Amino acid sequence: MSRRPQIAIDGPVASGKSTIARLVADRLGYTYIDSGAMYRALAWAARERGITRDQKNEAAALARNIAIRLEPVPGGGNRVFVDGAEVTDEIRTLEIGQLASELSAVPAVRERLVAMQQEMAAGGGVVMEGRDIQTVVLPDAEVKIFLTASPEERARRRQLEFEQRGQQVDYEEVLAEIKGRDHRDMNREHSPLRPAPDAVHLDTIGLSIEQVVEKVLAIVKEKCG
Ligand code: C5P
Repeated sequence: MSRRPQIAIDGPVASGKSTIARLVADRLGYTYIDSGAMYRALAWAARERGITRDQKNEAAALARNIAIRLEPVPGGGNRVFVDGAEVTDEIRTLEIGQLASELSAVPAVRERLVAMQQEMAAGGGVVMEGRDIQTVVLPDAEVKIFLTASPEERARRRQLEFEQRGQQVDYEEVLAEIKGRDHRDMNREHSPLRPAPDAVHLDTIGLSIEQVVEKVLAIVKEKCG
């Protein structure tokens, strides 16, 4: 029997990837995989051990030695575990996002996490979201979608997300952080953020979440029948 499809959704920070990927997975009965959570988990573990952004060898060794596990929550996101300890909420801070972005530029870190992601998606029936899913992790994915929105729109969304979690953050600070991460993610030497040549581009500005989900489901139907 042929395997079920793989759906790769990439885009810059706060482009709506997680929400969209989660809902699409739910509607299709597929497994949702948040690859960014794995980079965040690594960053969390690095910070616990006092490893800084400049300690590339230490970060690489850490990536080889820790166990990162994602546990899909039906109808929700992923619970995240590092060596058995749950870090689902702890990894959702600006600081961890920043360190994740910095450590994700280390080739040996990417190598290890990409291998784990490929293993998780091997059976198909997955919606995986990140930065390099359609170009590096799952280049043979049946569906490749690249989501975009302006940095200002994304900063507003991200600020709202923080507020909903009870964290007050400054809009200008969030905007600067988003622009910094975009720049680093798009310009790094290894696996920069970019669409695959055969990706479908979806600009989410002015669209409701439900409208984007419908568009993605229509693309899945068109590509996979
Ligand atoms: O998606 P999220 O913002 O949680 O990811 C945190 C950081 O991890 C990103 O800024 C990016 O640098 C890195 N990342 C990556 N490749 C992925 C997913 C995330 O480099 N596939």
